[in-house]
Amino acid sequence: MTPRSDVALAEWCTMGVGGPARWFVEARTESDVCNALAWARARRAVVHVLGGGSNVVMADAGFDGLVIKVDLRGVASSPLGAREIYSAGAGEPWDPFVAVTVAGSCAGLECLSGIPGQVGGTPVQNVGAYGQDVSGCITRVHAVDRRTLQPTLFSNAACHFRYRTSAFKREGGGRYVITRVEYALERDAPPTIAYADIVNYFEQRGETSPSVGAAREATLDIRRRKGMVIEADNPANRSCGSFFVNPLVSREQYATLQANAGSAVAVPHYVVDECMVKIPAAWLIEGAGFTKGSKRGAVGISPFQAQAIVNHGGATAADVLSLAAAIKRAVLDAYAIAIVPEPVFVGFKPSAALQWLLDPDPHN
Ligand SMILES: Cc1cc2nc3c(=O)[nH]c(=O)nc-3n(C[C@H](O)[C@H](O)[C@H](O)COP(=O)(O)OP(=O)(O)OC[C@H]3O[C@@H](n4cnc5c(N)ncnc54)[C@H](O)[C@@H]3O)c2cc1C
Repeated sequence: MTPRSDVALAEWCTMGVGGPARWFVEARTESDVCNALAWARARRAVVHVLGGGSNVVMADAGFDGLVIKVDLRGVASSPLGAREIYSAGAGEPWDPFVAVTVAGSCAGLECLSGIPGQVGGTPVQNVGAYGQDVSGCITRVHAVDRRTLQPTLFSNAACHFRYRTSAFKREGGGRYVITRVEYALERDAPPTIAYADIVNYFEQRGETSPSVGAAREATLDIRRRKGMVIEADNPANRSCGSFFVNPLVSREQYATLQANAGSAVAVPHYVVDECMVKIPAAWLIEGAGFTKGSKRGAVGISPFQAQAIVNHGGATAADVLSLAAAIKRAVLDAYAIAIVPEPVFVGFKPSAALQWLLDPDPHN
């Protein structure tokens, strides 16, 4: 195993910013992962586990350690009663995998079509969209424990999935290298038609019982209109998707927000449970003055939706952070809601500015 040196990380992440990795290696097997971890340990080098790079911001200074690019492949499926268990290598590209499950007439992932990245990244932040989260169908996650270099198996409950987070992102952050993920999908079952955009899509077309294939196409169509599919000629390609997580607020905070907005404005929201309400970050960002398509040097807000920060070419990580901080400040001042970034920041030195950006409850 011989890692390469000084590999430009901007080319390995969708945001397209960041300096070089001191060392970089691609892992195609579980043994490769263990060898790479042992190699780093022998040199006391820090490790970053890289998937598709679609949810990371790399520091301009790069990463002074070993980047392990996960490239374990292979998809297998086997029936279990009315369900089909799909097992996919962590390095499988996500959307082609979803296409395979949909072609197999299996329901459970169709609304997650068009999301970039790899299979191994999906449990990390409990990837979700349009009414589905991977936590709804993941049965097992196979990983290597970086402390012991031993294989470890997580049940769904052990993953501690919550909204856009999991044990792999929270308490276990960085401790495990995910190698394989298993999803239990419903064979020949109807798709999830729950999210307003998808419901409206089919209502407008008069389709009352769409197939999972139709739901996949609807999702891709809706995502394209929001610039959320990475493909040729999309001016919003260089991004992390939604830069901020939709904030969860108490019912009282929501009532205050609505009262302040006045009766002419209906604050968009989604009731999560009897206590919490989710507010679209995009609505807050636009309301705080950051309109779609606005630019600030080499970065800007996506022309399609306010939640995405876009690198228009030649941007630095510092440009991205500066715009993100300005957005967070404006939303905090306008609505007293602290929005927090969704992507993972890699290689950054601890700083008060970064800590403030990540803080869900900043004091100023
Ligand atoms: C245009 C666009 C649209 C998007 N839309 C959505 C959306 O609708 N819903 C959504 O939830 N997300 C969305 N995202 C965010 C992103 O695509 C997902 O979070 C994706 O699952 C990240 O996977 P990745 O392989 O790119 O991970 P990376 O970006 O490489 O890594 C993200 C984090 O996961 C860790 N990680 C990755 N692979 C492994 C592994 N094998 N083992 C251990 N840790 C690992 C990394 O260390 C890092 O901490 C979008 C992004 C873009 C650019």
